[in-house]
Amino acid sequence: MAKYLLTNANIITMNAERHHYRDGAILIEDDQIINIGTSADLTQDLDPDVELIDFEGRWILPGFINTHVHTSQQLGRGLADDVDLLTWLRGRIWPYESNLTLEDSYVSSLLCGIEQIRSGVTCFAEAGGQHVAGMVKAVDELGIRATLTKSCMDMGEGLPEVWQLNTQELLDIQVSHYEKWHNSADGRIKMWFGLRTIFNNSDDLIVRSKALADEYGVSVHMHMAEIPEENEYSRATRGTSTVTHLNNLGILDSNLLAVHCVWMTDDEIQMFADNDVKVSHNPAAAMKVLGFAKIPEMIDAGICVTIGTDGAPANNRMTLIDEMWLTSLIHKGRLLDPQTMPAETILTMATCDGARALNWDDEIGSLEVGKKADLIVINPNTATMLPLHDDVASMVYALRQHNVESVMVNGKWVMWEQVIQTVNEAKILEQAKQHASAIYERAGIQIPNRFTVI
Ligand SMILES: [Zn+2]
Repeated sequence: MAKYLLTNANIITMNAERHHYRDGAILIEDDQIINIGTSADLTQDLDPDVELIDFEGRWILPGFINTHVHTSQQLGRGLADDVDLLTWLRGRIWPYESNLTLEDSYVSSLLCGIEQIRSGVTCFAEAGGQHVAGMVKAVDELGIRATLTKSCMDMGEGLPEVWQLNTQELLDIQVSHYEKWHNSADGRIKMWFGLRTIFNNSDDLIVRSKALADEYGVSVHMHMAEIPEENEYSRATRGTSTVTHLNNLGILDSNLLAVHCVWMTDDEIQMFADNDVKVSHNPAAAMKVLGFAKIPEMIDAGICVTIGTDGAPANNRMTLIDEMWLTSLIHKGRLLDPQTMPAETILTMATCDGARALNWDDEIGSLEVGKKADLIVINPNTATMLPLHDDVASMVYALRQHNVESVMVNGKWVMWEQVIQTVNEAKILEQAKQHASAIYERAGIQIPNRFTVI
């Protein structure tokens, strides 16, 4: 059984009291944190079989939690920049995603996972792809933690033929996924139920997905209130806007993770608060395509709001650190209030509230005795981060991906001194290039040249 004592570090625990040890230590046994305190206390009478690791000059934080990512879209990065939403979806993303093979999805998920580990993410919530087996295999090998879903669509105009499954088929597939993979990979994988959007989901699928999620004790992941046209569509087909309609269906609940949530009324924000609905805010994707979500207002209403990257074609950067920075800046600018969304709120969203949104806070989200050893080591000694006058704020405003030095998930180092330990990164980068070109050809996507190519 592996035993480590990580010592001499600045440790931000993100526990309920927000303890911050200036010279702290964490004792880890197997996959669990078994003690945390000052280095002086924890190095006394030390067991000889404990491996001591000195993190002088380093910071240790709980791993970041990315609450919305499309791992299958990683090889589609750059496929849909500077285009309108309909071209984005029907001209680029649907042709791309409907041409993915199981192997493509696996390579895409590996590449996405590497980028996330490098940005300090130890757990993510998958928005839903087609080849769930490919995601499961990638997550297992990467050593990361995730909630996975299938992307489910039982109706909608222009849907590619390979996705045309009926409501019952989609529900049966998800139940079989749950039975096969829930709590697999040493408990690092949880299987959820996935709904794409109200454009592509019948009320029958929405209601029955929620009922099954309740029965199996898991959550539902769904894009919601993304664009004004979505509310118009919902009014035309269901008589009222998306969130009000979902409230009428009775599915707003603490096991619903609602993504984007840009076009909501104040009454709808209250509906979320009343029902403890969890929100994933994706600021880059929002700025690129959707608009300003009322995030500070949601937090003031008591809603658990978290941060996600969305997929590579919607954002290009699967780097949660960039999203943390943007989340703070966008809302300061929108409200002309430099005090809104302070660094401690951003860290809460990216760690303990991320875990709450995934209903996984019994095991992850903070560094506390009894929790899983999911943590990141930050080296702030770079020209981009020093000095640390307001040190906790620096962990949001100055932190960059290259400051993430090592990453531990479930008590194992998945990255050590910036080298990925679990998979062969160089080989995956080569595979990613080959698979991406092949999909582009197969899907018949044409991106016009922007400059005069000679
Ligand atoms: Zn999404």
